[in-house]
Amino acid sequence: MQSALESACDELYNNTAIDYYEIAITYDHPSLGNDSDSTTGCNGYGMLDRFNDYLNPKNPPVGSHLLVTDYIQNGCANKGNNGSTVLNGNWQPAVVGTEFPKEVWKNGGIHEVLHNCLDKSVIEDYDSTYIDESHHDLGKVYCGGLANNTSPMSTGYENDAADRGHCSDGCVFEQAYTTNLTSCTVESIDQIANQY
Ligand SMILES: [Zn+2]
Repeated sequence: MQSALESACDELYNNTAIDYYEIAITYDHPSLGNDSDSTTGCNGYGMLDRFNDYLNPKNPPVGSHLLVTDYIQNGCANKGNNGSTVLNGNWQPAVVGTEFPKEVWKNGGIHEVLHNCLDKSVIEDYDSTYIDESHHDLGKVYCGGLANNTSPMSTGYENDAADRGHCSDGCVFEQAYTTNLTSCTVESIDQIANQY
């Protein structure tokens, strides 16, 4: 997960107004959930809410706080919409499960952290057709290579959001993954970084 996040952060650092990033890792295990919650990431009082409640009394530093856990399959995150982005001085929780193969959860970790960073209300000023509420239209399935692979923001949404938005190559997903961010994702983060 560290290498995946470093790859994404480097890409953003080198191509946007972001002029600093830091990845801190702690092995303090919050002991949230158990195997019987296996699919409970976002629904009901799921892993995201539990992690938020765990973090809240600790007065966490500004930034995205990603819980990586083998108790859930998917991931979810608070979105940075309407000014609550971590690029605007907030902290936000995100969770990602590691039950699926490594390539999936590496992209998933990037995906959830970027939800914390992305503010649809800022991107919408640029082009109201650019992005849906959930940011997934910023991703796409890349054509070519050994197989058509999905970018982080379309990971898990390959059959719908990948073909929407400005970034779409119209290719069929072939169960392959790349941590490379689309130009739409990079441009959106750049707009937000400039806005704040
Ligand atoms: Zn998402």
